[in-house]
Amino acid sequence: MSLKADIVIVGAGVIGLAVASEVARQNREVYILERNERFGLESSSRNSGVIHTSIFSPRGSLNAKLCIEGLNLLYGICEKHSIGYKKTGKLLVAITGADVGGLEMLYKRSDEGIDMKILSEKEMLEMEPDIAGKAAIFLPEAGVVDAYGLMCYFLGRARDAGAQLVCKSEVTGIDKIAGGYRLTLAEPGGTSTLTTRMLINCAGFYSDKVAAMAGIDTVKEDYKIYYFKGEYYSVLPGKGKAISRYLVYPVLKAGALIGIHTVLDLDGRVRLGPDFYPVDRISYYLDDSRKDIFYKATKMLFPFIEWDDIEPESAGVMPRRYACDEPFREYLIRHEQDRGLPGLINLVGIESPGLTASPAIGRYVGNLANEILKN
Ligand SMILES: Cc1cc2nc3c(=O)[nH]c(=O)nc-3n(C[C@H](O)[C@H](O)[C@H](O)COP(=O)(O)OP(=O)(O)OC[C@H]3O[C@@H](n4cnc5c(N)ncnc54)[C@H](O)[C@@H]3O)c2cc1C
Repeated sequence: MSLKADIVIVGAGVIGLAVASEVARQNREVYILERNERFGLESSSRNSGVIHTSIFSPRGSLNAKLCIEGLNLLYGICEKHSIGYKKTGKLLVAITGADVGGLEMLYKRSDEGIDMKILSEKEMLEMEPDIAGKAAIFLPEAGVVDAYGLMCYFLGRARDAGAQLVCKSEVTGIDKIAGGYRLTLAEPGGTSTLTTRMLINCAGFYSDKVAAMAGIDTVKEDYKIYYFKGEYYSVLPGKGKAISRYLVYPVLKAGALIGIHTVLDLDGRVRLGPDFYPVDRISYYLDDSRKDIFYKATKMLFPFIEWDDIEPESAGVMPRRYACDEPFREYLIRHEQDRGLPGLINLVGIESPGLTASPAIGRYVGNLANEILKN
């Protein structure tokens, strides 16, 4: 039986596009299927745009490894292809004396090659006089990137090599057939089917559902996705300017979600957030019900911020493979041959720093796909 596609990628977020840019070849039929009207409308455009250094990803995890690789690749890609970025550096601040122990624990990660410097209170205030804190770590390699520009780059590279992006095409069914998969697609004109040799699941917070369509027991195998909503608040430009030099994060207790911090846009705007909390469905609805939480957290880092200086701005939802009370589970990137599903690669739980790691994830999956297609 002849199959229409060589590779189908489900999902046109930054991960699906990065993968497409690595697997597309002139002699391969590669399709990227996206259920939305355009690429990158979910997590990939609702994030902080921070180029992370891996310090928040557990030591030795696939997340940390791909983050470091991604950071190194990302600056090179941005420079070479004129994608907006800024290497701002990041300050991790111990707000009280009790937080200094946590800071010292983080500093031990310098043995992994993460470039960092520990700062006394005086040194920290010389760099950023408007912070309240007892000590800090400075991470000079951290920065911000234009996430949309990065996605355009990946898509352009994939298209140049012959890949096709098909929007408003939702994968609703997957059947294993001889030599590949038959996909059922819901499209504006009705239902259609597409057959493919290889299938790469980059469906973000729906990746567990796509894996389940292929027959994987997602609860038993720990593929289940938990949703964490993160809200952002904008800071009035006059006040924001004072804290727009560096990314500034508080140091929290081990295991806590990253606390409310500054987010710097390339145009000089300052936002605060995201304050992740668990939710049971995807919604970007926003009101000011969490303003008190934001205000109190911000005031501890930046005492000069007043109640009226901050306003709710936007929200995103992050997929994770573990609930709040469960131990960390790393990125799952897996060829499912041993489950009787050769040619299926699942990418599940690509939480932050997924944007930073995207070029490295693209390469990782590209190598996996080339091996599979060779056999
Ligand atoms: C609030 C927030 C802040 C973050 N901050 C940072 C940061 O500063 N730095 C960083 O490195 N990372 C950050 N991240 C993480 C980063 O944004 C994600 O890891 C990354 O965007 C994941 O990309 P993705 O392509 O896997 O997912 P998505 O962008 O969600 O893309 C998945 C795509 O699959 C499509 N899809 C789903 N199901 C189907 C289907 N059945 N058929 C067809 N299409 C389908 C969706 O419509 C979607 O477009 C943040 C995330 C959030 C939520």
